[in-house]
Amino acid sequence: EYYLDNIEKKNGQLNAFLEVWPDEARQQAEAVDAKLAAGTAGKLAGMVIGLKDVLAYKDHALQSSSHILDGFKSLFTGTAVQRLLDEDAILIGRQNCDEFAMGASNETSYFGPARNEIDPDRVPGGSSGGSAVAVQADMCLASIGSDTGGSVRQPAAFCGVVGLKPTYSRVSRYGLIAYASSFDQVGPITRSVEDAALLLEVMAGPDEFDSTVSQEPVPAYSQLLEPKAHYRVGYIRDTVEHPGLAPDIKQALESTIELLRGQGHVVDAVEFPYLDFIVPSYYILTTAEASSNLGRYDGVKYGYRAPDATDLESLYKKSRSQGFGPEVQRRIILGTFVLSADYYDAYYTKAQRVRRLIKEQTDELLRQYDFLILPTAPTTAFRIGENMKDPLAMYLADIFTVQASLAGVPAISVPVGHDGQGLPIGLQVLSGAFREADMLAFAKHLT
Ligand code: GLN
Repeated sequence: EYYLDNIEKKNGQLNAFLEVWPDEARQQAEAVDAKLAAGTAGKLAGMVIGLKDVLAYKDHALQSSSHILDGFKSLFTGTAVQRLLDEDAILIGRQNCDEFAMGASNETSYFGPARNEIDPDRVPGGSSGGSAVAVQADMCLASIGSDTGGSVRQPAAFCGVVGLKPTYSRVSRYGLIAYASSFDQVGPITRSVEDAALLLEVMAGPDEFDSTVSQEPVPAYSQLLEPKAHYRVGYIRDTVEHPGLAPDIKQALESTIELLRGQGHVVDAVEFPYLDFIVPSYYILTTAEASSNLGRYDGVKYGYRAPDATDLESLYKKSRSQGFGPEVQRRIILGTFVLSADYYDAYYTKAQRVRRLIKEQTDELLRQYDFLILPTAPTTAFRIGENMKDPLAMYLADIFTVQASLAGVPAISVPVGHDGQGLPIGLQVLSGAFREADMLAFAKHLT
């Protein structure tokens, strides 16, 4: 009732939820009460959780915040969501995001932007913007988002909460609307590192419906949060010196480094020579994968169909032109271009090779050090509209989140303070693949 009340009061302004399920949530809550009384309740008993509009939940609308999926309802429940239900979570509603998770501000949503509670003229970040605001504004205890190149971590940073992207393949993607399949991961947005650990522990692990999921055993992350006395931590010199990095964020990073050194941890500046190449390779590869994944939205199988089509060809063209927003169309065109016969080797193949270099170098640093620490984003939450005129500027702002995505390693953003205007600052921790337990313990130590 507390969360429903807050949604009622705040959602009109903040636009975090696209749909709320009060009756079902109350029924789930009653069922959980009964189980608690009987001593049979699951690990998430009573946790009220919101779902980004990219996660399939049987008989519930699912739209990726896009016009093209108007009226679509999911026929099944995805694995991660099913595991939440199996552990007695209460699902409260469907959350706004950038259209097909393409964006960093929630402004590409067909349903309009979600707004940052601290200053509603500012973005909450994206693409899981609604999910981050919902936690920030206490409209649910936790949200489940998806992160392809920062979509859980960056909005968490902009809203002053915790956002976790697991190792690629840690959590099943079955029931997650695909954007770029070799990057996409489901991840929690929470108030605390403990909650993130618990949700990961519930959602992670083998799944017969997603052949890419790792067979690696899932540790009880929530029981392993005790930090070690001595860590070796690296920070990439060029990120601290980056000209686009806001002074207050640089300061927050430097104070964290000093604090850790003071506690006896080793903190070294390290070299990573490929910083300039991570955003271009990310956008070549993700648009290529997106152009293929989004081919299925053709006006025939589900969702929006153009009313004025005259033949099959015009049905495809008109449904897609009317159904997809400008950012999604831009990426489909870019992706189709980099995959076209004449340019495939020059762009797609080359970007794959660069990805390999980035991955090898990142893995090597994460063998030498327990963690890398980075800013989550170069700025704090910007104003709605500020970056929309310049897509390249928006892409470049992903510079600190896409390294972990290209390398497939886990990363978490934790709040570490505020800038001079009172806007939250997030700091990111990266660890080697499948070392979430260590990463979470360290992240908890930082908060
Ligand atoms: N901002 C990045 C993009 O637009 C990340 C999005 C995401 O992680 N889904 O691709």
